[in-house]
Amino acid sequence: ITQIVLASRPKGNPSKENFRFEKVELPALQDGQVLLEPQFFSVDPYMRGRMNDAKSYTPPFQVDAPLEGGVVAKVVESKSEALQPGDVVLGALPWATQSIAEAKKLQKIDTSLAPASYYLGILGMPGLTAYFGLLDISQPKEGETVVVSGAAGAVGMVVGQIAKLKGCRVVGLAGSDEKAELLKKEFGYDEVINYKTTQDLRSDLKAACPNGVDVYFDNVGGEITDAVISLINFHARLAICGQIAHYNDEKPQQGPRFLPLVLTRSALIKGFIVSNYHARFPEAMQQLSTWVKEGKLHYQETIVEGFEQLPEAFLGLFTGQNQGKMLVKV
Ligand code: NDP
Repeated sequence: ITQIVLASRPKGNPSKENFRFEKVELPALQDGQVLLEPQFFSVDPYMRGRMNDAKSYTPPFQVDAPLEGGVVAKVVESKSEALQPGDVVLGALPWATQSIAEAKKLQKIDTSLAPASYYLGILGMPGLTAYFGLLDISQPKEGETVVVSGAAGAVGMVVGQIAKLKGCRVVGLAGSDEKAELLKKEFGYDEVINYKTTQDLRSDLKAACPNGVDVYFDNVGGEITDAVISLINFHARLAICGQIAHYNDEKPQQGPRFLPLVLTRSALIKGFIVSNYHARFPEAMQQLSTWVKEGKLHYQETIVEGFEQLPEAFLGLFTGQNQGKMLVKV
């Protein structure tokens, strides 16, 4: 089989040189194990953190060991009662053309409900992140204004739609006019600002949010977040979901600014990791899949073909190559 290992730890922006392809042989299948053939690999911004040798909520990748992440795979051989060849499963699996896993660590997925890839997106980690960050932390109310950064990504796309279901005005920030159009036409966003071409982000935001900002779902951080905070209303709620603008920083940056406003507007800022909500995943899955079935939530994926494209697809997250969930199909 072929696997992709971490060749070296990036300093600043990651590059293809940080990855290496290797040929290895798999050991024989043991009792309780299954042999898997991946169908979809998820590439996610949090993997950048795992490339550093730093303590975090997930352990760092090891140099010379395969990277791993969310994978939808088909069982091709089974030494477990729990899974049969042909079953489709979700698991944390290595970046490899085939792999062996303990059946009990895999989750069988129902592909009659939604396409298998959705379990890496709207019905998986990104969808759950959107659900809890918005509904549990920010608690948007009808008529309020919700601002979402990273709006055209795997998480952001879901956040905006749920906020619309709750009767809010939804304003997004995204990195191209094409993404802005897509979010407005297909995903119900009221306004979307292209943060890369705007002349004055704060004044564009102010125009898009005439009643101020009640909820901010932050996927990005940096100057975008500074601008949004400058417009918050009394009792605003800010869910800090991601800070992708900082993941490649070599030195910590200054900020956030405008904290005096957080004080005088009695605002809430709360960071969260989706796994904090593990016990409530069934409730969220039930609601998300109902909305998908009813046609109330739509989803988009950017599917890159070919195992060898995995590093490139991952790197593409940092230059905004994706609309919706970025996946690699094998
Ligand atoms: P996305 O699908 O949103 O992909 C990343 C997007 O971020 C890109 O498409 C790009 O879009 C944008 N981006 C990249 N660099 C920058 C930058 N410097 N400034 C502004 N935007 C940038 O990823 P996900 O939806 O999977 O994740 C979104 C965020 O949520 C990430 O920060 C991630 O780490 C976080 N996250 C947090 C979780 C949690 O438990 N707290 C769980 C899952 C994700 P554009 O063209 O708009 O620039």
